[in-house]
Amino acid sequence: MAGLVAAVRAREFGAAPVVLEKGNRPGGSMLLSSGVVWRHNSLWDFRAECPDGDLDLQRRIIEELDTALDWLESLGVEPVARETGNPLTVGRRYDTRILTDVLVRAAGDVRLEEPFHEAQILATGGFGARLARQRGLLLRANEWSEGDGLEYGVVRGASLTDGLDQFYGRALPRGVDESDYVSAAQIYARHAVVLDDEGFDLGEAAWHESDLVQRLPGGQAWYVVDARALRQPVQERTVADLVDAARAAGGDVRPAAELPFALPESPKLVEPPFVAVRVLAAVTHTIGGLRIDEHARVLDEDRRPVAGLHAAGADAGGIFTGGYGSGLAAALVYGRIAAETALS
Ligand SMILES: Cc1cc2nc3c(=O)[nH]c(=O)nc-3n(C[C@H](O)[C@H](O)[C@H](O)COP(=O)(O)OP(=O)(O)OC[C@H]3O[C@@H](n4cnc5c(N)ncnc54)[C@H](O)[C@@H]3O)c2cc1C
Repeated sequence: MAGLVAAVRAREFGAAPVVLEKGNRPGGSMLLSSGVVWRHNSLWDFRAECPDGDLDLQRRIIEELDTALDWLESLGVEPVARETGNPLTVGRRYDTRILTDVLVRAAGDVRLEEPFHEAQILATGGFGARLARQRGLLLRANEWSEGDGLEYGVVRGASLTDGLDQFYGRALPRGVDESDYVSAAQIYARHAVVLDDEGFDLGEAAWHESDLVQRLPGGQAWYVVDARALRQPVQERTVADLVDAARAAGGDVRPAAELPFALPESPKLVEPPFVAVRVLAAVTHTIGGLRIDEHARVLDEDRRPVAGLHAAGADAGGIFTGGYGSGLAAALVYGRIAAETALS
């Protein structure tokens, strides 16, 4: 997303940018996403969620996202919803197919299946595909983000942020087709007892569950729910719907009595029947990346800008370190900033 946004913004400044896309379609992971572009309610909420991130980078997202969302609308992208449905966040939801089409049209020169060799603005989406492969985890993102932007940046003298081992994680019932990345996600850990393969309780998850997914031993666990939990709402669906989605995807869904260990005592397991769902950790995007400043300039080890090099989206680290935030918001805000800085 960040590359398309940067190109659209650059054209508004009279430039003639070229977007080089490695994949066979534009839109990257944005196209596969739920399309909710959001921010935390305040900078202090953002810091509480992502305590190890860079305050200045976070501030620009808080201050500029609303303007950037209005800008998207000025391009002709109407949101499908003007709120996120989550009281902890504000933002808008988009049809990602429409968003991609509008951005591609406005970006002008978008060349598919052309990996970049030289770039002024790096926006290759981080290295989720590589991290998933190296850690033996599922990938829940576009398949092309291998870290090419980071590698190129480092050759040009860039430094990297902390948090290179962190990722935005989601639990899936098994490897699923990319069209099912949203519908098959198992996002009800707060209603479940989460157990490892010996039956050890893995504890509670934050509201976004990315913390829990990152610490699943061997990238796998069981979510066990009771009948009460099955009735709980999860966005527009219920936990029962999500368990059905796991079953429909060919996941391992079974009566908890068939697990090879006894269930622990838990206030979450009261009303039978108890159902167990096998979940696997999936990488959506990486959190560490190239070090940038609040103008999207890539920085070297001495925190000086690398001449003529900018980064946006998941290629830029240091925004969400230690927590979770909107990757789409980072791509939108820093895609715009990268173009503005590159052309100023
Ligand atoms: C299922 C799913 C649901 C999500 N839901 C949300 C959500 O609701 N809200 C939210 O904020 N975030 C969400 N995300 C995360 C969000 O999609 C990403 O954070 C965001 O797309 C990152 O933007 P980006 O521009 O960095 O990367 P991308 O959008 O992935 O774009 C990077 C592009 O770079 C291309 N590329 C890679 N290497 C090269 C190369 N060498 N040369 C040229 N091109 C290259 C890739 O093919 C890709 O098209 C979701 C993601 C997924 C997969």
